[in-house]
Amino acid sequence: MAIKQLLKRTSGWLYLNSPVGRHQLHGAGVILMLHRVLANDRAADLPHRNELCVGPKAFEHLLTWLKKNFDCVPLMEILQPGAIRTGRPKIALTFDDGWRDNALNAFPLLKKHQVPASIFLSTDYIGSRQRFWWESLGETLWRSHGEKARAHLIECLQRLGLPLPVLLDDLDVQRRSLALLHFLQTLKTLPPGELSRLTDQCPDESLPQALDWHQVRALEASGLIRFGPHGASHSILTGLDDQRLDEELSRSRNALLNGCNRPLPVYCYPNGNHDERVREHVADHDFPFALGTVAGIYRGISDPLALPRIGISQRTARNPELLSWRIYRGARP
Ligand SMILES: [Zn+2]
Repeated sequence: MAIKQLLKRTSGWLYLNSPVGRHQLHGAGVILMLHRVLANDRAADLPHRNELCVGPKAFEHLLTWLKKNFDCVPLMEILQPGAIRTGRPKIALTFDDGWRDNALNAFPLLKKHQVPASIFLSTDYIGSRQRFWWESLGETLWRSHGEKARAHLIECLQRLGLPLPVLLDDLDVQRRSLALLHFLQTLKTLPPGELSRLTDQCPDESLPQALDWHQVRALEASGLIRFGPHGASHSILTGLDDQRLDEELSRSRNALLNGCNRPLPVYCYPNGNHDERVREHVADHDFPFALGTVAGIYRGISDPLALPRIGISQRTARNPELLSWRIYRGARP
């Protein structure tokens, strides 16, 4: 292990177990942000998946570590704390987008360890075959759907003046995956219509990428999982005019009111983007709380419509001591 990582792990652990750390975290809450739990860890280790995916072994390792060091509570227990105080810092898990693997791979482990979680749905995707461009383009370019599909997509990208970086043909898997990650990041600036046309050029997968409403209701009925909105179409809210912003907010809110028994009064901004106008509209749609992606811990005094979270990658899930380092950084005044 690199010296830097070792130092981070050690100082994080010391912080979490020191009187200073315990004092700073008393009454505070940590909200974790996850996206996907894949069926195997090796797949999640690759750089182009590492940020958004964790593997089942790493996820279980994380859950065990969290239970040892924190009170794992439902999100609302951090946002509207009840009377029970154990003196241990609180932590809540959130998952963005509404991936099908949340039901298939994450839930059995959450249930086994009795750790509650909140899932934020991009509601247009739920129960539909609509696909997240990042996943479809990324995996097609990674050759997960065969060489023919990859060649076809490369041709489409070239026609748009988006040639693939040469490193995507590198023999080294790590370097190739890293090059893919950087390439996908550059595509983020393309108009949503363009991205969706490119996604249509990728082959269909055997299973839909997102949860369906039947799964949502079954997870909710377990008593361990609650749901909130993460946009309807996953459009970046700051880029929408007032009318489209209101449509997006109402559509996602109504879908949750129809699809769940007890949706959360918490909005989750797609890609974490928000500004004053977006926050005002979110409040007008009856959401007193909203989650962003800025790293930090919650002390009950930050803007309830810009709540901080700490992202979990496969690397962090494998080495949860790195998380205590990030909490330490987030807790510093
Ligand atoms: Zn998202």
